[in-house]
Amino acid sequence: MLACIYKKHGVFELTEKPKPQIINPKDAIVKITMSSICTSDLHIKHGSVPKAVTGITVGHEMTGIVEETGTDVKKFKKGDRVTVNVETFCGECFFCQNDFVNNCTDENGGWALGCRIDGGQAEYVRVPYAEQGLNKIPDSVSDEQALFTGDILATGYWAAKISEIKETDTVLIIGAGPTGICTLICTMLKNPRKIIVCEKNETRRNFIKSHYPSVIVANPENCLETVIKKSENGGADVVIEVAGSEDSFKTAWQSARPNAIVTIAALYDKPMILPLPDMYGKNLIFKTGGVDACDCDEILSLIERGKIDTTALITHKFPLKDIQKAYEIFENKLDNVIKIAIVN
Ligand SMILES: [Zn+2]
Ligand SMILES: [Zn+2]
Repeated sequence: MLACIYKKHGVFELTEKPKPQIINPKDAIVKITMSSICTSDLHIKHGSVPKAVTGITVGHEMTGIVEETGTDVKKFKKGDRVTVNVETFCGECFFCQNDFVNNCTDENGGWALGCRIDGGQAEYVRVPYAEQGLNKIPDSVSDEQALFTGDILATGYWAAKISEIKETDTVLIIGAGPTGICTLICTMLKNPRKIIVCEKNETRRNFIKSHYPSVIVANPENCLETVIKKSENGGADVVIEVAGSEDSFKTAWQSARPNAIVTIAALYDKPMILPLPDMYGKNLIFKTGGVDACDCDEILSLIERGKIDTTALITHKFPLKDIQKAYEIFENKLDNVIKIAIVN
């Protein structure tokens, strides 16, 4: 089968690989119908994911059809339409039992697919712990509607959930890339009084303005001023940082009011520094990420009921054979790209 692999530092390659086989009774083999390229794939390509294994098939956002199941898999059968979860989790360890599935103690626990074990930019994928790693797509939901469930939507849903958003809150979301937009969509489900989105890219700011007119849009230069002007108590009640730069990290804690919750969903490529003496008395609550992607059935149900719609994020589609072209567009942010669907 065709598979896009992490050949070496800086190089992904489309190549032929054997079709995956069941190796554990809890596995399922899924025939991929649609996959996507994520910014984390670029992190692998450029060496900022130390755990990534060379030769691995990349890709961790996908939909497909169950092709084969191991003998312990009871929840799914051949022919089921499913989304695949970015996280691998056993469902039984302390962390899984407490919904901290990102910290599953299994050797492949957490983000393994498309990083440490073969992922989904391919024709087939083996999904370990299939009863946890798969979610059935409701009949009325298309693959395009479901595509982001297992990764960026799960991340946005989790970030909004752990941020403890109240209806009286002003929420600042930093970053309007694909995950930032998913975070915005999931924050809107909580009905906060105001939402401010800060984004440096003008095309993305315009995307937010046209699709979510009730949202206040700021750029990094006027973000702090906008937040102070629009909030009641000198800063945002909740800040969700999804951008992942030194500047955005600084904006996150600076824009928060005293005793606010600051959720860091972003992945940084170096350590970030908190100037604690300057922040003394601000009493912020920090929550940091690594998505616990355990609400995918709820997300699919929200999609089915029309409460979540991420289809506008798919700006481009390519067949798997042209994935290199898709990477070129995604990596260089050409042609106003937001997300690319790879269609098998
Ligand atoms: Zn991802
Ligand atoms: Zn576990």
